[in-house]
Amino acid sequence: MRQPFVAGNWKMNGSRASARKLIDGIKQGIDSVATAEVAVCPSFVYLADVQAMLSDTRIALGAQNFSDQKPGAFTGEIAGDMLKDFDCKYVIIGHSERRALYGETDELVASKFITALEYGLRPIFCLGELLEERQQDQTESVIARQLDAILALPGGVEGLSKAVIAYEPVWAIGTGMTATPDQAQSVHAFIRERIAEKDANVAAGVQILYGGSVKPDNAVELFSQNDIDGGLIGGASLDAGSFLTICRAAGA
Ligand code: PEP
Repeated sequence: MRQPFVAGNWKMNGSRASARKLIDGIKQGIDSVATAEVAVCPSFVYLADVQAMLSDTRIALGAQNFSDQKPGAFTGEIAGDMLKDFDCKYVIIGHSERRALYGETDELVASKFITALEYGLRPIFCLGELLEERQQDQTESVIARQLDAILALPGGVEGLSKAVIAYEPVWAIGTGMTATPDQAQSVHAFIRERIAEKDANVAAGVQILYGGSVKPDNAVELFSQNDIDGGLIGGASLDAGSFLTICRAAGA
């Protein structure tokens, strides 16, 4: 039985004050979320504040990105052990915004995957197709390529047992266009089957989240699909009430 999981990706939003207010709101309502694990991924500069506010809660902390390198001369970068210093449990890797806007390749994402595991961080590994790739019937080949970058690593499939996967169709991120529950379920099942070709136990146990304009009014239907184990939430995670409603949809 996979535990439902909902993570909020705050992206480059808010202020120190709004981050504190958001955490206050989530903390006030967290007892209404019975079974789902809940995590928030603030900007790096708010990690310390959020860590302190979460210390007496069951809400986990994650980062939105990090370096695949060990500490050293990498100006502007953040190392895995720095994230551990702030009790981060999760780190998002391979988000489509990082792939599209910052040129992150499958190879770099794979390197971050390995580094995250070395530091005891659980990667939230994102993958997803562009609109034109879906329109050209290339969804499965794109997902297979992105997933295979991890599966081909030495220890890659075992690594997935310590990771979370987030299927995020790029055309659905921040656009208000959501994949239908059937479209999402079909890709989630494809991901699970492809992992099962390497290791059926890992495939059965790995949480696969859906991300892409999940909102309070579509979360129940999406999360009721067999292979959808929760969500990675962008815009709707910036409002405590909406985020908590989505968390309850995953596991009230
Ligand atoms: C995301 O950025 O991971 C995301 C899913 O964003 P949104 O929920 O806003 O589409």
